[in-house]
Amino acid sequence: MTHSVQPAASLYINGEPVEGRGTELAVLYPYTGEVIARLHEASVDQVAEATKVAAAAQPAWAGLRPIERGRVLLRAAAIIRERSEELARLETLDTGKPIQETRVADWPSGADALEYFGGLASTVTGQMIPLGGDFVYTIREALGVCAGIGAWNYPSQIACWKAAPALAMGNAMVFKPSEETPLGALKLAEILTEAGLPAGIFNVVQGRGAVGAALVSDPRVAKVSLTGSVATGQKVYAAAAAGMRHVTMELGGKSPLIVFDDASHEDAVGAAMLANFYSSGQICSNGTRVYVQAGILPAFLDRLATRASKARLGDPLDDQTQHGPIVSAAQAAKIRDAIRTGLAEGARLVCGGPGEGAFVPPTVFADATDEMWIAREEIFGPVMTVLTFATEAEVIERANASDYGLAAGVFTRDLSRGHRVAAALRAGTTWINTYNLTPVEAPFGGVKLSGLGRENSAAAIEHYSQLKSVYVGMGGVDAPY
Ligand code: NDP
Repeated sequence: MTHSVQPAASLYINGEPVEGRGTELAVLYPYTGEVIARLHEASVDQVAEATKVAAAAQPAWAGLRPIERGRVLLRAAAIIRERSEELARLETLDTGKPIQETRVADWPSGADALEYFGGLASTVTGQMIPLGGDFVYTIREALGVCAGIGAWNYPSQIACWKAAPALAMGNAMVFKPSEETPLGALKLAEILTEAGLPAGIFNVVQGRGAVGAALVSDPRVAKVSLTGSVATGQKVYAAAAAGMRHVTMELGGKSPLIVFDDASHEDAVGAAMLANFYSSGQICSNGTRVYVQAGILPAFLDRLATRASKARLGDPLDDQTQHGPIVSAAQAAKIRDAIRTGLAEGARLVCGGPGEGAFVPPTVFADATDEMWIAREEIFGPVMTVLTFATEAEVIERANASDYGLAAGVFTRDLSRGHRVAAALRAGTTWINTYNLTPVEAPFGGVKLSGLGRENSAAAIEHYSQLKSVYVGMGGVDAPY
């Protein structure tokens, strides 16, 4: 059976599909390795063309009543929900993630963002600051053209999380998906057009890092929002600084998940699995350093090994499959190298291992130390490192001794301790007795090397707008000369 999902054209500029004039990009279905679409990168001229049309279209879009902009986003969300099955299948083909995940997590979360920011658009107001006669009022205005650059793990969600607040605030966007997963963003562009978005407000260019770099340094771009690795974030942040552009950086992590001995063990094991194996572990906020209090360690590892070994690997389009392939052969090779490093460092393999072909099974290392590479570096695959601790103070210090700070979790039945530990952990998002839930209502983003700025929630509005002060003089001008 063929899985071809060839789109009308590779790019989407000024409200219509446009063929790329750059080199070919073959899109592979990670499960079979078959080519499911052949696209072409955007040429440098086409990146410039996309930002030009975006800049030309943006003022009229910003000039609409916010409720009118919101209505377009709400319509797009409704279309996504109507086509949920088709879109889930496309996401599975693009990423290899099991359809049982893409049905509930990817586009549905994107639709949530469009609904949330569509609704929020008309609630954004300024302030009136009285000065005794004179006064100042503030206007929260659009930035102009925003560049969005996405990673391959949640391509459609990332496109929606960036487009929704940007468009709600009256910006235009040029989005570059990861070369590995270019299909979802094109679909979003079509859906937005169908929902009534004016031409030029949401554009998609394809390409590898060089296309992203051309976009980031385009003089018409006022803001760059990147989801990607720390190394790319550092490059993009530096390039954006040259033009004093605004940035949001959603980068990687090595997040701690702390399990105290009074926690519900079954919930903690389930959360640790979700925090490491969902999407085959390709999630930035994963709790990959699992700190388990010493007394419960043997029972925790036993239960983990039993449950992890039952995970159903296989055809991602099969409803029953729980664990899909890795997105690309290159990423699978990196994960396997990481597993070999863990073994060479002396960590004990509790279950899993390098796997074969496109699959890396759920893998758990125990007897690890904080100094080991596998406990310090992001692996971005289904590899959990279990560490053990004795006291609360000790585990907080160890959990915080990381260059990253995207997320953290704590499992305990002691409510005071849960809040105390959550407060002490240096991370942008912290969960108590759950893990990896990122509803659109809550701010999401990192501290330290994991990035800056926040996506989702009303906080995202601030990252896609700027404040203008208007001073109104009510009397004469008292000039001293
Ligand atoms: P990369 O950092 O390799 O790439 C991210 C995006 O940036 C891709 O679209 C990439 O293009 C593009 N890019 C690469 N170089 C440049 C450049 N110099 N200028 C502009 N754009 C560039 O990340 P991956 O796609 O490999 O994704 C995995 C990483 O993303 C992980 O480290 C993970 O932690 C992080 N991530 C963070 C999330 C968060 O919200 N904090 C969420 C998801 C992932 P191309 O791929 O075409 O080369």
